[in-house]
Amino acid sequence: MASHFRNIQVRIKQAAEILDLEPWLRSKLCGFKLRWACDLEAKMDDGSLRQFRAVRIWHRSPHTDQPHKGGMRFHPNVTEEQMMSHAMEMSLKCWIMGLEWGGAKGGVALDPAEHSPQELKNITEALVDEMDERGILGPYRDVPAPDVGTDTRVMNWIRQRYSQRRRSLEDARFAGVVTGKPVGYGFGGIPGRKEATGYGLVQVLETYLKLRDIDKKDIKRVAIMGFGNVGYHVALFLAQKDFSIIAISDVDGGIYNPKGLKIKDFEDKSKVSEISNGKPITNKQLLELKDIDILVPAALENVITKNNARRIKAKFIIEGANGPTTPEADTILQKRKIEVIPDILANAGGVTVSFFEWARNLSIKDERVPRAIKEEVLNSLSDMMSAATKEVFGYAQKYDVSMRLAAYLMAIERAAPLFKTKHTAV
Ligand code: NAD
Repeated sequence: MASHFRNIQVRIKQAAEILDLEPWLRSKLCGFKLRWACDLEAKMDDGSLRQFRAVRIWHRSPHTDQPHKGGMRFHPNVTEEQMMSHAMEMSLKCWIMGLEWGGAKGGVALDPAEHSPQELKNITEALVDEMDERGILGPYRDVPAPDVGTDTRVMNWIRQRYSQRRRSLEDARFAGVVTGKPVGYGFGGIPGRKEATGYGLVQVLETYLKLRDIDKKDIKRVAIMGFGNVGYHVALFLAQKDFSIIAISDVDGGIYNPKGLKIKDFEDKSKVSEISNGKPITNKQLLELKDIDILVPAALENVITKNNARRIKAKFIIEGANGPTTPEADTILQKRKIEVIPDILANAGGVTVSFFEWARNLSIKDERVPRAIKEEVLNSLSDMMSAATKEVFGYAQKYDVSMRLAAYLMAIERAAPLFKTKHTAV
């Protein structure tokens, strides 16, 4: 399997060469502030104790007074190297969106489907205990969010455990320790966070099509890989905007309907196998479908590689997942004039609404932060996603590069002055 960590380094190097960055800054961009790993111990339902590998990574941030931010993943493939690459992506995403955070990522190596809710809660609490004991969790230190295999329920467990541990030690606003919490009295979540990544992706797509003067009527047919938080909401919002979802998949396979799935075919479903209106296809077939205009990988990394990039027929790829395309695939797709709208722009809606939630929890004044009303949250998100897309598009034109490289250039150019003032006495 291609290394996603190497993929990010390749892209940072490409951007650093164009921007003619000094060597110390290039190495800082590929460095880390924290690489933490630990064997958690948690009680299973049969009374036994079991160990799980937990990892948390902080990318090298130029911010001295702001926390690190990033998803907490429950998946068997959680490794230090995998999380290092995602922490780097998180920084780039924050810099593109103008959010003053350092990137983080982490998780626990486990398959959530193999555990009862009680076991998952015990594992989450053990994770909070270990992180808190080492001072690497907190509203001003490290603020996790949902990712693959975790959800509002897990975020709520993190908040509860953290506040139970800290209450007697300090007077703080504990809700800001984590984002993506449930919405409702006392929970501290913000309406619109659940939908944010999918909603943001659709705003990026629409803005991009307008910038390219492409009539939506000409590119309507979409295939989506992944039917979790991101894939589901992308499907929902695209269908609401009259795009035609002709295929969608999850880990167990996909479903294909050339006439397009209707919202009622997939609304309130949590697995693709519950959708009956179509014929079964594999994930491999979905990626290579002939009759699609847009492909949205919204599951895991490294699914579009040099091995299948020549067989992809979509006109555009917009990345809901982090790191679904390798640099070798990028080169092939670019030659074939298939534009890729990159993850660090396309899926930045989640971290943006996380910023709204965190700022509200901590009563931080920032004119971008809306009231906790879903419509206002999604409107503010939409404005920020459109503005970021226009800026990245501007870089793509200025440097005559792909949207991917443009997004890296924009992110790095924005953060570079802050790194420089930390490194030098000017
Ligand atoms: P999720 O756990 O809610 O859903 C993941 C989906 O991918 C599920 O439908 C699962 O069945 C499917 N899947 C897993 N393995 C697969 C495989 N081998 N082949 C095909 N499908 C597979 O996760 P999510 O939150 O939707 O995250 C999906 C991606 O989006 C991840 O890369 C994540 O890092 C990224 N992302 C998520 C958010 C967010 O707000 N949740 C924000 C930004 C980026």
